[in-house]
Amino acid sequence: MMSTDFGKITRVHNIPKDEMANLIRSIAAEKHEAGQPFYILDLSTVERLMDKWSHSFPNVKPFYAVKCNNEPALLTKLANLGANFDCASLLEIDTVLNLGISPNQIIFANPCKAISHIKHAAAVGVNFTTFDSKLEVDKIKKWHPQCRLLLRIKAPSDSGSLRPLGKKFGALPEEIEPLLHYACNVAGLKVVGVSFHVGSIAQDPTIYREAIANARAVFDVADYLGIPKMQILNIGGGFRSTPLFEEIASVVNEAVPDFFPDPNLKIIAEPGRFFPETAFTLVTHVIGKRARGEKIEYWIDEGIYGSFRPTLYNSCFVGIKPISMKECCDIRESTIYGPSCDSLDAVAVDIKLPELELDDLIVFYDMGAYSKCAGTKFNGFDMLSTPTYIVSTNST
Ligand SMILES: *Cc1c(COP(=O)(O)O)cnc(C)c1O
Repeated sequence: MMSTDFGKITRVHNIPKDEMANLIRSIAAEKHEAGQPFYILDLSTVERLMDKWSHSFPNVKPFYAVKCNNEPALLTKLANLGANFDCASLLEIDTVLNLGISPNQIIFANPCKAISHIKHAAAVGVNFTTFDSKLEVDKIKKWHPQCRLLLRIKAPSDSGSLRPLGKKFGALPEEIEPLLHYACNVAGLKVVGVSFHVGSIAQDPTIYREAIANARAVFDVADYLGIPKMQILNIGGGFRSTPLFEEIASVVNEAVPDFFPDPNLKIIAEPGRFFPETAFTLVTHVIGKRARGEKIEYWIDEGIYGSFRPTLYNSCFVGIKPISMKECCDIRESTIYGPSCDSLDAVAVDIKLPELELDDLIVFYDMGAYSKCAGTKFNGFDMLSTPTYIVSTNST
């Protein structure tokens, strides 16, 4: 039914399994009864990922895309590690500012913004945004004329990307010259660079080279139009902490000097999934069970109106690792349902699981990206209030 790749454990960090399992058991035993799922955020994973980023991308400043996971402890940790932030709305801007982070560290990276959000950005001093249409230029000219702009261009299509963004976002090649002319020479705004986003979970590293070449062409058009020299290249998101990340980094690190020999170019990126994905573990409880012949069906306290909502429209690779409280046991063909009364609310269908009982835990690793933040309160199950326990496995 869903393309979710269950059964594959994609956790990459090296906490001894027993240590994590014991941590999960002790939190569950002390603080939680069935009906209340919870998250564990491992801050040492976030540290390790920032090391990995800095090592692979020493010249690329990350602006973490807040929409991916807005957990305050994550945002604070990332800020302390030197990250900036990509916000797409008034509320995301306020979330970041309320943590004491400076407005200078924010890019309002939504190319189409409601006027009220543009006015808010101007009021709080967020002076950096993106655009890809003429009407956006008019709105910014009227409500935030001091704002520095990046022209968002349509990224080359990555047929392998699991969440291509090209259709909705980005100026087309034939729109670039008139848009740049209008924004700079007619409206008098400051266009300081170019941005693109190849789509979430990019599969083909060469797509970044192609996008960087396209960005170069935009810089050339700007030169031709006599616009003050642009200095910023924003390579967007699409990264995961898998071996492909290093491949993408070397493609980017090679392409940038090929197309942008100017050493003064500033390169930024908007990683979303890269930072939270492997840092969060979701712990759920078995709240119901039914045997149907050889197969077993379970109900758990988290479902597709909560953290699994993106599995409805996006293929997330979720590692499922059932932790049973018993020594056990038989491996059975199993289906896992979420708690709501929607029959679509199935988290995993026909997977192999050891047989579980009421109150046993089912743990999902690598659940930090586009999970809880996409949840709802549908049917009276408040999946937005799932608590998060913050741990740091290195220091314990
Ligand atoms: C969602 C988004 C990101 C983050 O994308 P990931 O694929 O999670 O890295 C970055 N930039 C923009 C403009 C986005 O909309």
